[in-house]
Amino acid sequence: PAKTMDELVSLCKRRGFIFQGSEIYGGMQGAYDYGPLGIELKNNLKAAWWRAMVYERDDVEGLDAAIIQNKYVYKYSGHEDTFTDPMVDCHECKSRMRADHMKDIKVCDNCGSTNVTEPRDFNLMFKTNVGPMVNEESYTYLRPETAQGIFTNFKNVVDSTSRALPFGIAQIGKSFRNEITPRNFIFRVREFEQMELEFFCKPGEDEKWHQTWVELRTQWWLDQGLGKENMEFEHVTGDDLAHYSKATVDILYKFPHGFEELEGVANRTDYDLGSHTKAQEEFGLSAKVKKNEHSTTKLAVRDLEENKMIVPFCIEPSAGLDRGVLAVLTEAYTEEELENGTSRTVLKLKPHLAPIKVAVLPLKKNKPEIVDAAKAIKNRLQKLGLGRILYENTGNVGKGYRRHDEVGTPICITVDFDTIEQEGAPVTVRHRDTMEQEVVNTADLPSFILNYFVN
Ligand code: ATP
Repeated sequence: PAKTMDELVSLCKRRGFIFQGSEIYGGMQGAYDYGPLGIELKNNLKAAWWRAMVYERDDVEGLDAAIIQNKYVYKYSGHEDTFTDPMVDCHECKSRMRADHMKDIKVCDNCGSTNVTEPRDFNLMFKTNVGPMVNEESYTYLRPETAQGIFTNFKNVVDSTSRALPFGIAQIGKSFRNEITPRNFIFRVREFEQMELEFFCKPGEDEKWHQTWVELRTQWWLDQGLGKENMEFEHVTGDDLAHYSKATVDILYKFPHGFEELEGVANRTDYDLGSHTKAQEEFGLSAKVKKNEHSTTKLAVRDLEENKMIVPFCIEPSAGLDRGVLAVLTEAYTEEELENGTSRTVLKLKPHLAPIKVAVLPLKKNKPEIVDAAKAIKNRLQKLGLGRILYENTGNVGKGYRRHDEVGTPICITVDFDTIEQEGAPVTVRHRDTMEQEVVNTADLPSFILNYFVN
């Protein structure tokens, strides 16, 4: 794994994974842009999540709700009142910082001075104006989590799919938080993506489901290549527990800057649906909620055993996509000494996450027959639907191998004279991790590649 953040930042910029946002104007703190390879990696991680959470289960539906929602969503969700971080100012160097890591010892992050203010609450939501009239009522917020769109659509999903408990609704999308101190590359940013599942169950079954989801999510991260030894769990307690949560288990990963939260699995009880539902008094809610005077809809579902409408409990595994990208990059980054005394950088990404699945390299740059054969192979493999297959004609296969090691391409195929002579001619297949080469007939290539990537 990577030892420092700097080596990751440098690789990401050099090879086109991730760039500083607004770089040509001096940057924009807490905003990053994903480049040609970063977008592939990110899409692959999203696809793996969606596959595991929606397609491979029969009790989860998908959703893509709007980022901009009615301001009442945040009034009743509790975010307007309580989605804050404690902030302090330093009297000496005038910098401002998030204070919750300071606990009792209050020392400025920037200059080390103890001459800092008392912490005060800072709301992390971005406020924005909606419509052409700017007045006291025309505001809303950019969503600070995707979850609320799931709760507000609860009845739509239940009515359109006839779901009964237990079942879940999954969503991937952007969230925004005006973090006081964005830092550590894409770990803490102001615009990020979340992959969230809200899993609804009967009260009383919530603790069992909470435990189950911690286990399932941990296994999923292991399947993305993270090492068991680099993961830890933290039971969140006291002040750190979110306003909606009965219990939260954080899944931590050993990032270059230390063990930090990758995903939180929270037991949100009946807080959210209970906050947003009409006729709250009918449901004997267990959570303490604000009286809702605006909702038009009952967010309840029939309990088939007791034959009555109930507001279910909700278990939420909420993962940060950007933190996921950072974690798999950290884990995959490898510096290797080779037998001939040289070294190489190789990204040992799981094949399903690799931004480029296969690179097809003609051995000679200026031989039309070889070039055409290589292009034909690219086109054939591209049709398999595995992701990006790259035809690359630089004429320097050795350099191509090194570059593809560095960006994690699991397989390179080189095409030379032999290939063009007859159908079924051999090509050389080179494996990223072992650097071993084997000969495969072109006629067998599609099934060879399919077998390699689909398991
Ligand atoms: P932290 O304590 O690190 O601020 P959090 O507990 O506020 O995180 P949650 O509200 O539980 O985070 O959000 C769920 C997930 O969303 C987190 O586990 C994390 O992966 C991701 N996430 C939250 N805030 C950010 C951020 N500022 N930048 C990137 N990812 C984030």
